[in-house]
Amino acid sequence: MQLPVKRREVSKAEALAFYKDEPYKVEMISELDDGTISFYEQGEFTDLCRGPHLPHTGFIKAFKLMKVSGAYWRADQTRAQLQRIYGTAYFNKKELSAYLIFLEEARKRNHRKIGAALDLFSFHEEAPGMAFFHAKGMEIWNELLKYWRFEHRAAGYVETQTPIMLNRDLWERSGHWANYRENMYTSSIDDVDYAIKPMNCPGGMLLYGMQPHSYRELPIRAGEIGLVHRHELSGVLSGLFRVRSFHQDDAHIFMQPHQIQEEILGVLKLADKIYSTFGLGFDLELSTRPKKSIGTDEQWDTATSGLRAALESYGREYRINEGDGAFYGPKIDLHIKDALGRTWQCGTVQLDMSLPERFDLTYVAKDNEKRRPIMIHRVIFGSIERFLGILIEHFAGKFPLWMAPVQMTLLAINDELASYAFQVKKEFEDKGLRVIVDDRTESLNRKIREAQIQNIPLILTIGAKEKESGNLAVRTLDGKVKYGISHDMFLDAVLENIHGRKLELDIFQE
Ligand code: ZN
Repeated sequence: MQLPVKRREVSKAEALAFYKDEPYKVEMISELDDGTISFYEQGEFTDLCRGPHLPHTGFIKAFKLMKVSGAYWRADQTRAQLQRIYGTAYFNKKELSAYLIFLEEARKRNHRKIGAALDLFSFHEEAPGMAFFHAKGMEIWNELLKYWRFEHRAAGYVETQTPIMLNRDLWERSGHWANYRENMYTSSIDDVDYAIKPMNCPGGMLLYGMQPHSYRELPIRAGEIGLVHRHELSGVLSGLFRVRSFHQDDAHIFMQPHQIQEEILGVLKLADKIYSTFGLGFDLELSTRPKKSIGTDEQWDTATSGLRAALESYGREYRINEGDGAFYGPKIDLHIKDALGRTWQCGTVQLDMSLPERFDLTYVAKDNEKRRPIMIHRVIFGSIERFLGILIEHFAGKFPLWMAPVQMTLLAINDELASYAFQVKKEFEDKGLRVIVDDRTESLNRKIREAQIQNIPLILTIGAKEKESGNLAVRTLDGKVKYGISHDMFLDAVLENIHGRKLELDIFQE
């Protein structure tokens, strides 16, 4: 069928006359500017629409109506509720079915559902938008941070920590009191105004400014896992993806102008290493000077060409977002790509020409002159809460062994074998493994099924044979079972897999 879709332009008066019995249309048309108004016609159906539309219905090869839901007229709760019908269309059936599979997969991977099913975190009305992490969630959290610290130390970072509440003086100096106050939680103590930090930067600037620095000390790479609070409207809160309180894996790097390229390159390589440990790819985007900005042309040239040179020598493609930098400097954003091909902006490397000025930060250069250091803010996870949410969806709750909150469960076949199971548990725990024993009087099949639902990577059944021989019977989440595995070889392989933070469970390679 090739029903033509025709555009027709009419005057406002004609449009009002045409829709005289439809109050919602009349309301919309009345608010439009005078001039022509477009209608689209398809068969006997006419609708008010700005367009554009397909020339005829023959282009639509595959479509599906998705859902029906109530919607308030003009999103206003005090007005009438209307019905909204959602649909989607594609040029062929294959694309449509790929999209439907994607939606279903995304629904199954919803981190809020998995977080509840695996007992990782929750939200409570006593603290809206602020996550509570459960014992199992904290196991993952701690592994993430352990890994973060390991890579950062290797890349020459030190770690600092600054208070979460600082006084008004400081926020005035940083500019936040004037520009960001509506998003900050404030308090007054002993007649002094305080604010809970929405960013770690000002505290970091105070630390740098405590003592004089020589060019020889630069670059200084100071990391901080900082807990920040930002007041978001309740309507935009969304699981771990959009919260009011979160941890940033922040770092400030202070350097001399000629070090920009190398330092940025260092951040890109570090991010690459960290993302690839999780099997995440990423895209790069450079944002340049916006219309409204501080700093001289020369400063912007040095900064932007430093970022550009780093991207060039890194050798990967990048997009340019002309004019989308912050008013205080250009930036590079890193958009990671998850298992479903969805992208998430996580990392950012941002050059700042404002804060070193506001906090009067200096270093003594080679020629004994006092100079302003170049400073960058950078994050790699971004918000740790959000990154964890992304990882839950990326892995669909089936974490690699090193991250799994429970790495193995020991299923004792009967009560007499339970004490042997606890003995094995103790031994494995002494090696740093996270192990539980399931000694309930349930059937073995049921225990296996429940362990699989909990995505426990290694399920060990302990029967008389295992106790006698000291060997192990190991079941992996993909359903493979191996009997008679040497205890020591198993332990070595497991520890090697964990220490290597491997994505795949490769412990049975012969
Ligand atoms: Zn910062």
